[in-house]
Amino acid sequence: MRAWSVVEPGPVEEGALRLVEKPVPVAEDDELLVRVRVCGVCRTDLHVAEGDLPVHRPGVTPGHEVVGEVAGFGAAVRGFEVGERVGVAWLRRTDGTCAYCARGAENLCPASRYTGWDADGGYAPYTTVPAAFAYRLPGGLDDVTSAPLLCAGIIGHRALRRSALPPGGRLGLYGFGGSAHLCAQVAMAEGATVHVLTRGAAARKLALDLGAASARDAYEMPPEPLDSAILFAPVGDLVPFALRALDRGGTLAIAGIHLSDVPALRYESELFYEKQLRSVTSNTREDGREFLALAAEHAVHATTHAYPLSRADQALADLKAGRFDGAAVLVNDLS
Ligand SMILES: [Zn+2]
Ligand SMILES: [Zn+2]
Repeated sequence: MRAWSVVEPGPVEEGALRLVEKPVPVAEDDELLVRVRVCGVCRTDLHVAEGDLPVHRPGVTPGHEVVGEVAGFGAAVRGFEVGERVGVAWLRRTDGTCAYCARGAENLCPASRYTGWDADGGYAPYTTVPAAFAYRLPGGLDDVTSAPLLCAGIIGHRALRRSALPPGGRLGLYGFGGSAHLCAQVAMAEGATVHVLTRGAAARKLALDLGAASARDAYEMPPEPLDSAILFAPVGDLVPFALRALDRGGTLAIAGIHLSDVPALRYESELFYEKQLRSVTSNTREDGREFLALAAEHAVHATTHAYPLSRADQALADLKAGRFDGAAVLVNDLS
């Protein structure tokens, strides 16, 4: 099969990602073989391709927002049928035995493995996934709409929970791409007032169209103090701005896996009055199941831009340059 491969991490516009010939993967005993229908494009794919994240598997095929169908499975798999629609997401394996796993924090498992980083992902016609980590997707959401839910949506949902937003609270979203625009919809459906702070007129317009109370540039102050904020933009310089925008007792959650350095913080204006600064690390399968159910219940709509899978390099370059709002989704045209 023809699959995308990070041959040598570097700038995507200089060819870090190449189409190469790879064998169709073979499912391990506890894995599903999945025929990829679509694969969402996540900013983490960009970080893998450009070397912001260390190489875990040389020549890896990125992609961890896969909607596909079961094409086969290993001998130990029970409960799946060939042809069934499944989702493949970022969290791929945990040991299930460590102290973190035991207390329900499998997102912190030191032995965790990730799709499209430790193992080949969905920028290819076929991929594999441990059956225990495959998601069953709610009916009523089509393939293209479902793909961004699988990472952008799930991570945004964990970030929302980590931001400790009180019921009916005021939520600030810094950056408004694939993850934030899904998170915003659930937050508003649950009664939040959402303020969006982001560069890019198209993203600000999308925010207002979805029902945000305000949309301003990322370095401006929101029109009212925030109970909670989530930093989606991978820009450490925004941390002090977001902390200053918080009301007393407010919480800032940082959603990204990668963040440029955070400048020195001023204690009195940025942390005092019990403001909290939290990171968000991956997600648990429970986060995923909870979010997918909420997405179906609230009819969350992903704003998507379809690209043929054969143009994944272009999609990543466009993501890097901020040339679209919402989320890019690759539609499989490879074999
Ligand atoms: Zn563990
Ligand atoms: Zn992702």
